[in-house]
Amino acid sequence: MIEKLKKLVFVTNNPHKLEEIRSIAGDKFDICSLKDIGCFEEIPETADTIRDNALMKARYVAEKYGVDCFADDTGLEVTALGGAPGVHTARYASASGHDTRGNMELLLHNLENVTDRSARFVTWIALFMNGETMTFEGICNGTILDSLHGDGGFGYDPVFRPDGFDVTFAQMTGEQKNDVSHRGKATRKLLDYLNNI
Ligand code: IMP
Repeated sequence: MIEKLKKLVFVTNNPHKLEEIRSIAGDKFDICSLKDIGCFEEIPETADTIRDNALMKARYVAEKYGVDCFADDTGLEVTALGGAPGVHTARYASASGHDTRGNMELLLHNLENVTDRSARFVTWIALFMNGETMTFEGICNGTILDSLHGDGGFGYDPVFRPDGFDVTFAQMTGEQKNDVSHRGKATRKLLDYLNNI
């Protein structure tokens, strides 16, 4: 008998994130995107913390569309900038949240002549399933370089070099990045939980 895959909606339409999470989840779950459930609206993410943003997005979709789902939210916290851009990571350079290049340029500008380049990516995943809510955290420590390197990945990948490596996320294969990344760690916690309920 073929076991039916557990269907879970990932509150995203970002193809890179979907691809990353599907490759970590393997073939145990049928992970759908928002567009797969006919949701084309902007999901509100106006909370004050990364964790609350993940909860806000997952709650919105679970309640409005009546599906089991999970949402993630990620922030880049730079030590010398007091943890900024943090919850404002996507909209650092522009309110639209779509200026990836501008975000990196502003970050490099704000770190000009700064010697402490340490930073971390933090991901929170919020799961709404069977009427219950769970959250999972993943952290990846690293360094902000002073120029862009590599053209893989997305977002701030070309300027972020994870600890223990001499390349940026944008110079790694998807698999290498998943092994050490904030989202990889949070996702493995999510999957451990799902596999044990
Ligand atoms: P979101 O929470 O996925 O919307 O991401 C917030 C911001 O962090 C956006 O600017 C993303 O491009 C950036 N971001 C999220 N995950 C990553 C990553 O794995 N690498 C680089 N940038 C990321």
